[in-house]
Amino acid sequence: MSKVSGNLFVIAAPSGAGKSSMIDALLRRHRKGSMQVSVSTTTRKPRPGEKDGEHYFFVDEETFLQQVDAGNFYEHAKVFDHYYGTSRHVIEDTLASGVDVFLDIDWQGARQVKAAYPGVHTVFILPPSNAELERRLRIRGQDSDEVIARRMAKAQHEMAHYGEFGYIIVNEVFDDSVDQLEHIVLSQRLRRSKQQIRYREILQDLLAE
Ligand code: GDP
Ligand code: ADP
Ligand code: 5GP
Repeated sequence: MSKVSGNLFVIAAPSGAGKSSMIDALLRRHRKGSMQVSVSTTTRKPRPGEKDGEHYFFVDEETFLQQVDAGNFYEHAKVFDHYYGTSRHVIEDTLASGVDVFLDIDWQGARQVKAAYPGVHTVFILPPSNAELERRLRIRGQDSDEVIARRMAKAQHEMAHYGEFGYIIVNEVFDDSVDQLEHIVLSQRLRRSKQQIRYREILQDLLAE
C-alpha cells in the first residue's frame, strides 16, 4: 500500500454546541493516531485545567502578532476579543505523515482555510435549540454570566454562517453526533482519489491483463 496524505477537516460551531467534546470522543475511538486535532495558539488566558501545548499554546499579544508577521499561521482570527491562530508547519507536517487533522476554528478561520486549501472538508455543528445551547454553556461552568451572555449573542452571528459548510450535524444525542462525525471522516478515506494511491499496486495488477 502506498502512503496517502491525511485529510483536513474544519469543525466549527457556536461556542457550547459540543464541538470540543465531540472531537475528543472521536479521538478516543481512534487512539492509533490516525487522526489529530491541531492545537491552536491563542492570546486568551488558560481556563482552569487547560494546559499549555495541549489545549492551546498560550502566548501574549506581542508574541502572537510577531508570529503573524513571520507567516507562521495557516489562518488566524480575532474571536471574543482574543487572537486565535493555526500553526502552518504543524498542519502541513501532520497531513504529509498520513494523519487526518481537525481544525477547531471559527467561521472566519474556516473561510481562510477554504481559500488556502480547497480540498478541506468543512463541518458545522449546531445545538438542537438556543435554550439548550445556553444550558450547555452554563453546565460547562467555565465562563462568567457576562461571558455566557456575550457568547449567546455571538452564537446567532456564528450560526448564520452554517451555509458555508459542506456538512451539518445537529448535536442532540451526543453519541449519535460522534457517530455522524466519524462517518464524515472515515468516508473521505474511501474517496477514489485516495484509494487510487493507497491501492496503486492492486489496481495495476487487476488491470494488467
Ligand atoms: P469554544 O468555543 O468553547 O471551543 O472555545 P475556544 O476558546 O476553544 O475557541 C474560541 C473560538 O476561537 C472558537 O470560535 C474557535 O472555533 C476559534 N478558534 C479556535 N482555534 C482557532 C484557530 O486556530 N483559528 C481560528 N481562526 N479560530 C480558532
Ligand atoms: P464547544 O467546544 O462547542 O464550545 P463543549 O464540547 O465544551 O462545546 O460542550 C459544551 C457543554 O455541553 C459541555 O459541558 C458538554 O459536556 C455538553 N454537551 C456537549 N454535547 C452535548 C449533548 N449532545 N447533550 C448534552 N450535553 C452536551
Ligand atoms: P474558547 O475561547 O472558548 O476556547 O474558544 C472560542 C472560539 O475560538 C471557538 O469557537 C474556537 O473554535 C475558536 N478558535 C479556537 N482556536 C482558534 C483558531 O486557531 N483559529 C480560529 N479562527 N478560531 C479558533
